Amino acid sequence: MARAFVIVEHRQGAIRDATFELVTLASELKEKFGIEPAAVVIGSGVRAFAERLARYLPEAILVEHESLANFRYEPYAAVLKDLFEKETPLVTLCPQSAFGMELFPRLSAELGRPCATDVTRVEMDKMNLVVHRSVYNGKINARVQLASAGGYLVTVRGGSFAPAAESGSVGVVRDYPCPPIPERFKTEFVGYREAAAGEVDITQAPFLFSIGRGIKDPDNIPKARELADKLGAVLSCSRPVVDKKWLGKERQVGTSGRTVKPKVYLAMGISGSFQHLAGIKGPGLFIAVNRDPKAPIFGSADYGVVEDMFKIMDALREKLAS
Ligand SMILES: Cc1cc2nc3c(=O)[nH]c(=O)nc-3n(C[C@H](O)[C@H](O)[C@H](O)COP(=O)(O)OP(=O)(O)OC[C@H]3O[C@@H](n4cnc5c(N)ncnc54)[C@H](O)[C@@H]3O)c2cc1C
Repeated sequence: MARAFVIVEHRQGAIRDATFELVTLASELKEKFGIEPAAVVIGSGVRAFAERLARYLPEAILVEHESLANFRYEPYAAVLKDLFEKETPLVTLCPQSAFGMELFPRLSAELGRPCATDVTRVEMDKMNLVVHRSVYNGKINARVQLASAGGYLVTVRGGSFAPAAESGSVGVVRDYPCPPIPERFKTEFVGYREAAAGEVDITQAPFLFSIGRGIKDPDNIPKARELADKLGAVLSCSRPVVDKKWLGKERQVGTSGRTVKPKVYLAMGISGSFQHLAGIKGPGLFIAVNRDPKAPIFGSADYGVVEDMFKIMDALREKLAS
């Protein structure tokens, strides 16, 4: 029986949201291809995480050891190599995060096991893995068939799958004996430091007024900021606005910025690249203003306004003044 493992990413005492997106994918692999899913929880004092994952998947494999308390490649790799040898999963999934990007490509090179990174969809052709990845900055979606192998490593782009809901039944937590862990590592865990939040925390804002390259000129930024304040919204933006240093990095929404979950997301002059959209997790209401009727953002928005954003900004200002 083929199996798919989900490597649970956790940090600072919490399971990272991306894990639950992988659970959705693993459940899909079970439904479509009969691949049996299991979660793999590696750490120290993390039984509660395994118990939580067992409410989503039929099995959670728990590997605990004090040297696994904080992620470092060497001890995690020692566990996974042992697990792969004894349990032979066909597909092992990890988020496309700093954690997954450090772990899987190196493990792939050491094991000679194929690794597909930044994947947005997974299929099987017989027992060969087929993945979808977007390349050339999202301009092309490539369908890639991997060579036949005993096991595949896959890192999955955040936002490609909806987070899973609990399955309604309680699976098994299986203690897996920790293999011998090397005593000396090349890397040392010094401490964890959260990136500075800056002057605002857009991840907590219920209403985001978000501007993109359409804002055109730095002189227009104060106008957008003022309107956002009047609307009771927090100003956020797409990456070009940060690259031009018109707003701080802490306001950037997207894969290399912040992930936001506002009640209202009002996007102005943003085209809707997947890197931007992946940072917006289920807003209650998503409104997009763009003068290009073919802008991809309209594919995600609840309401779309095809108009010059400055006209809309003026109209909102007038409405608020009346
Ligand atoms: C590794 C990587 C990571 C990335 N991470 C991020 C990220 O975290 N966040 C992010 O946002 N991007 C990210 N990007 C960049 C991303 O690919 C896009 O380039 C970016 O999102 C485009 O920003 P934009 O929509 O503001 O600009 P554009 O794509 O240039 O779109 C501007 C839009 O404004 C519209 N417009 C122009 N003038 C007006 C007007 N007067 N009125 C109305 N509409 C108007 C245009 O029709 C157009 O649709 C990343 C890219 C890479 C390669």
